[in-house]
Amino acid sequence: MLAPTFLPDCLPGIDRPRLLIDGQAVAGSATFDTINPATEEVLSSVPDCNLTQLDQAIAAAVQAFPKWRRDETKRRQALRNCAAVIRTHHEDLSRLITLDQGKPLTEARREVSYAAELFEEHAVQPIPTQVLADTDTVSTRLVLCPLGVAALITPWNFPVGTAVVKIAPALLVGNTVVVKPSPHASLAPLFLGQILRPLLPPGVLNVVTGDAVIGSALVSDPRVTKVSLTGSVATGRDVSRRAAADLKRITLELGGNDPAIVLPDADIATTALGIARSAFRNAGQVCSAVKRVYVPEELERALLKAISAICRQFVVGDGLHEATTIGPLVNSAQRRRVQTLEAECRSQGARISPYRGAYPTQGYYHPPTLVSGVPDTARIVTEEQFGPTLPILTYRDIDDAIERANDSTFGLSASIWSTDITRAEAISHELECGRVGINGHSRSLANAPFGGFKQSGIGRELGPWGTAGMGELKVINTFK
Ligand code: NAD
Repeated sequence: MLAPTFLPDCLPGIDRPRLLIDGQAVAGSATFDTINPATEEVLSSVPDCNLTQLDQAIAAAVQAFPKWRRDETKRRQALRNCAAVIRTHHEDLSRLITLDQGKPLTEARREVSYAAELFEEHAVQPIPTQVLADTDTVSTRLVLCPLGVAALITPWNFPVGTAVVKIAPALLVGNTVVVKPSPHASLAPLFLGQILRPLLPPGVLNVVTGDAVIGSALVSDPRVTKVSLTGSVATGRDVSRRAAADLKRITLELGGNDPAIVLPDADIATTALGIARSAFRNAGQVCSAVKRVYVPEELERALLKAISAICRQFVVGDGLHEATTIGPLVNSAQRRRVQTLEAECRSQGARISPYRGAYPTQGYYHPPTLVSGVPDTARIVTEEQFGPTLPILTYRDIDDAIERANDSTFGLSASIWSTDITRAEAISHELECGRVGINGHSRSLANAPFGGFKQSGIGRELGPWGTAGMGELKVINTFK
């Protein structure tokens, strides 16, 4: 076993990862191995939460709720403390993310900084409240109340970011939480639980582990009143079916198949760089990455050439090496999926522009690859590839491009690339998605609502909209 010796051994969650239940660091009755995707070596033994431990975590959250909901000042101070401790352990958390999930250290560091910013932002964010009327006889106020115990279920691609984006607003509003990270990257969320443990009353934050069995038991538990999931569409459907049994409140942040539309007047160098940065970040394993590109027929060659030149500059390798810009995929299943989609393109007569650089033979690597000449019906176009293979598709006119960009069950985000900003802004209104970038694809802002149209999700995270999703509205009439 590869002991991550750079980490302090005084904290469980590193070489001895622990669940967080009722304020205690708890071992599992069993464990499962987690693999370093850069080396295919066993990295650590992770405690496997059983149903009894899950029951204890939910019971602890129920018990802690009445007191936690009472004192907003204390909650805000706790959020500030959480931000500070994340900054103290910034490098430890970043390295754990890279070791377990594979992304380059620079990206992991950005994720951890963002997590600290999210706690800071929520520590000062107003909880939505409004005076609706104030007359001589009655005043009417609208307040946001906590829901109770929130189940926060997260994916592996941003193991810390997607957890904190849920934990911070849930705690701010006064909920207590049970967090269940993905078994494919649970080391950093478990470590996060341990460093936050001294800062919160027992039971307010619980971190368990496990796969769909534990996830669905958590969602089905009648003591849980809110479920916030970030994951795939298939999981979103299952979670909403189970949550419907007792009408739990749900927020679903699901997959994306983001189009980028390049207009004939786009600056090719800027466009190629922006698209490549988005499509290949975290080896393409980002919900809101560019996943298909629409380019006018006459620009196809120039764009392919420009993106290929950028791909040649990428360094594919172990994310722990500072020079690496593209790490491995998270596991062998994910790499197999990308390889299969690429093989299907090849059999459909697509042109493949391969990466010509060297990369390690051991590890779940897949180099950045461009495919062109693929039909719209190819799975690499209709599905979320979640890997570094990007289809480039040509279009005749802008109506054709908009129609094909919208012809998807997904609707997370999109981008338009043009030197004519007025025209690009006009097109942005026609795209069916929750966020549009003009001459850039993504921008994560702690106070901008994030979420999808169509099957990319239900509800929004971040800003007052995300906070509102962690509570229930109540009208208070005070008669004078
Ligand atoms: P996944 O759906 O397989 O798993 C997500 C989480 O749900 C994991 O913790 C998993 O154990 C749990 N889970 C799985 N089945 C469950 C069930 N039936 N009931 C309850 N919990 C269950 O997703 P993944 O492979 O971990 O992550 C990749 C997906 O997440 C992609 O589709 C990606 O687009 C999406 N994602 C979306 C966003 C967003 O904000 N929209 C952000 C990141 C990732």
